[in-house]
Amino acid sequence: MNYLSTRKNGTNNEEKVSFKEAVINGLTKNSGLYFPENIPSLPTSFFENIENIEDHQIAFEVLKPFVKESLNDEQLKQIIAETLNFSIPVVKVEDNIFSLELYHGATQAFKDVGARFMSRCLSHFYSKNDSEDTTNQNVTILVATSGDTGSAVANGFFDVKGIDVKILFPKGKVSPYQEFQMTTLGKNIQAIEVEGTFDDCQKLVKEAFNDIELREKVTLSSANSINVARLLPQMLYYFLAYKQLKKQDNLGNKKLVVSVPSGNLGNISAGLIAKKTGLPIVRFIAAHNANDTFYNYLQTGKYQQKSSVQTFSNAMDVGNPSNFERIEYLYNKDLEATKKDISAFTVDDNATIKEIADCFEKNKYLLDPHGAVGKLALHNSLQENEIGLFLETAHPQKFSEIIQKAIPNYESEKVDLSNAKKLFIENNYDKLVEIILR
Ligand SMILES: *Cc1c(COP(=O)(O)O)cnc(C)c1O
Repeated sequence: MNYLSTRKNGTNNEEKVSFKEAVINGLTKNSGLYFPENIPSLPTSFFENIENIEDHQIAFEVLKPFVKESLNDEQLKQIIAETLNFSIPVVKVEDNIFSLELYHGATQAFKDVGARFMSRCLSHFYSKNDSEDTTNQNVTILVATSGDTGSAVANGFFDVKGIDVKILFPKGKVSPYQEFQMTTLGKNIQAIEVEGTFDDCQKLVKEAFNDIELREKVTLSSANSINVARLLPQMLYYFLAYKQLKKQDNLGNKKLVVSVPSGNLGNISAGLIAKKTGLPIVRFIAAHNANDTFYNYLQTGKYQQKSSVQTFSNAMDVGNPSNFERIEYLYNKDLEATKKDISAFTVDDNATIKEIADCFEKNKYLLDPHGAVGKLALHNSLQENEIGLFLETAHPQKFSEIIQKAIPNYESEKVDLSNAKKLFIENNYDKLVEIILR
């Protein structure tokens, strides 16, 4: 499988690379995103028989065509075993509506799978066993985070051989839970608290990537969420959900609709690729909070990026979703074709709180703010002949302050930051370089 740029215009639009190169490069030469050259169909027998296939085998068959030139079977199997190491249950919430709980992994949010998968791929690609490689240098992963990505990357890359991780986060602007997850691991994970905003952190990281002198001394890599190694394994959620719904005999003759709480549109893009392989999902719902850029695009056919606005479902506070390019590419910019497969819905903060309260009262099911957006979007558009599944992308306890607005007597777990190890720097590039070179 080759990977092409989502940008067909401009210079370097003929770029064609392997999975390995796509993972290492991150972005294409013409600043687009990598996309698989073709999406192979899986045989119908695979879907007919899926409830009898073991989860890791499903993952292997789904991912193999996308990576086989860069990873051998044994490597892929090992990566899958280390990535899918927690349960991903489908849970019935109410009549015809099910939740896919993606939060039982290390950092209790769905980005774990992508981060772990990517870390293991990089570890293979930079492996010291390569005979010509006589340097003995680690790769340094440098990321800026506003919270969730940092904790997923910290956990995903923890203790992975040959990789050092530096995570920059803005002081006082991530939740105690997220800070706990980034700062208490140690070993190859270093958390750097920056006096500034998320944008300042991102600027420092960009400066490092543009610093030729620094890059001669260290191998820098990013663990950005647009990386194909983070995107592709997210396809597996949809296959594993379908398997369970089929096995539990919940589908009958009804059609499956999936609602995805969306920000950068990465998770839903993976779902759309899964659909393209033949997975029987009739349509997707992009469930958004007040950040409605993609919703407006589907309404008007015009893409107009916005500044992000802050909401209770903060992992979806994205005004210019980076994976929009992938969706546009997949549907060849055909708005009607896109709308056949995807609809969008927006849910404001008041409705999010009300949904958390209502769902808890009626179904005794606790939603987190992201899942609440997904469920409400689904509830409002589900047809008679359909079965609905929404993704529960984060554990409610990560957002206990918001849950308490809906359910006042909700008890949150306390976070112990006494073992936190972090470095503090002012918003100062030279200090960052010093830490990287240490
Ligand atoms: C990242 C994230 C999302 C949004 O996923 P995208 O792939 O950016 O659309 C939703 N919920 C949670 C909890 C997240 O961390």
